[in-house]
Amino acid sequence: MPLSLPGYAGDWLERSLDRQVRLAVTGLSRAGKTAFLTSLVNQLRHAGLDARLDMMSCAREGRLLGAQRQTQPDLSVPRFPYDQALTALEGTPPDWPSPTRGISELRLLIRYKSRANSRHFLGEQRTLTLDLIDYPGEWLLDLPMLRQSYQQWCEALGTQLVGRRRRFAEGFLQRVSDLDPAATADEQQLADISAEYARSLNSARNEGGYTWVQPGRFLLPGELDGAPVLQFFPLPMEQLGDPAQLSELPADSNYQTLARRFEHYKRTVIGPFYRQHFRRFDRQIVLVDVLSALNAGPDVFDDLRHAIATLMQSFDYGSRSLLSRLFNPRIDRLAIAATKADHVTPEQHDNLLSLVQALMAEPLRDLRYADVPVRSLSLAAIRATQARTVEQDGKRHPALKGTTESGEEVLMFPGEVPSRLPDADFWQRQGFDFMAFKPMPQSSGEALPHIRMDSALDWLLGDKLR
Ligand code: GDP
Repeated sequence: MPLSLPGYAGDWLERSLDRQVRLAVTGLSRAGKTAFLTSLVNQLRHAGLDARLDMMSCAREGRLLGAQRQTQPDLSVPRFPYDQALTALEGTPPDWPSPTRGISELRLLIRYKSRANSRHFLGEQRTLTLDLIDYPGEWLLDLPMLRQSYQQWCEALGTQLVGRRRRFAEGFLQRVSDLDPAATADEQQLADISAEYARSLNSARNEGGYTWVQPGRFLLPGELDGAPVLQFFPLPMEQLGDPAQLSELPADSNYQTLARRFEHYKRTVIGPFYRQHFRRFDRQIVLVDVLSALNAGPDVFDDLRHAIATLMQSFDYGSRSLLSRLFNPRIDRLAIAATKADHVTPEQHDNLLSLVQALMAEPLRDLRYADVPVRSLSLAAIRATQARTVEQDGKRHPALKGTTESGEEVLMFPGEVPSRLPDADFWQRQGFDFMAFKPMPQSSGEALPHIRMDSALDWLLGDKLR
């Protein structure tokens, strides 16, 4: 006689549901991706032991049993170097892990108990397969190029090279001014000018602190380093002359050669990233280093805003968006996190959160995340400071204790974080100095200290761990 057991049927259904999540972590270079992913893996591996995960309901309820690493399914993608990262953090003296520079992946099996229900009083043991993918946010900055022609791209970039930023492009602008768009292309000359263009982007990033760059692969070429597909650059508008005549130029002219390479880059670099990787992500966290941009001044802060607005276009899933039409992505939950919250005293954390929300307000409003729930938070993946209070003139003041990158122990108040987008007045009386700290010494085998990694995990995975 067939059994009629709706409870078992419910459990079976539950098990046959997708118990697998692909969670992607991105952010612009130095936003804190490597630190975040290292901490995430570390917290889950220490779950049920010494990890502090009270804001994660599954852990708070004592249902999170732990996590194990497993061979990742896609063997063509480099493995996220978790062991090397941990070795650096546990070294004497401790050091930050070397940042990853391309895409990398790691698979975790998370063991947990399901929520107790009337049938299973203690809940049954289950496994969630978590694929973690780390990739540079710079790659998302290329999305708008898909709808541009080479000429439109040149025009758009011309408007970017202004103010202080232009200083970093002087070398490139000088070299490119010798290039005649109509002359027959000289491979070597194009390669040299491309290298100069890439150098200008790198120095804008590393010396100037600017984050908006295009093409994103020029900054983090990964396996494409030195490949001819990266040998193109924008021509300044004043050099292009009459736009109507450009299409008449011979196929072997500099202009036509650059335009062809631009199209080739779109087809063979931008498209495949979205097709092979992006459209397979289920969840995404975008990390933003707002504090470094605040430190660097108004120009860099505005540039970060522009970069974030561009980057966020990749999460615009309106049915008419370019992304939806081309790639049909399926991200169903998004988190946006201001990183390195341990650089400021705890009473500033609310302001940091308001600031990142203000920074994101426009993309969030414009893009109308109709079906993608978004949450913003502030966190420190690996807390490098301790909160203290100091007494001065009979008053108690918040302070941070930490070790600077040069090895000096300090007790300091780094300053106030504005709760809104800073205005001219703010920049004039800017009185803060968020400095970089070394990680705190770490006993081997201990969970890494953090701030609100558990909130991030709860938002990104909580519903899958019921
Ligand atoms: P990535 O380029 O996005 O992978 O950035 P990383 O994770 O390598 O972080 C860049 C740098 O930011 C690190 O070397 C640290 O100096 C700093 N950093 C990252 N996360 C934290 C954090 O949680 N706290 C502190 N104090 N510094 C951090």
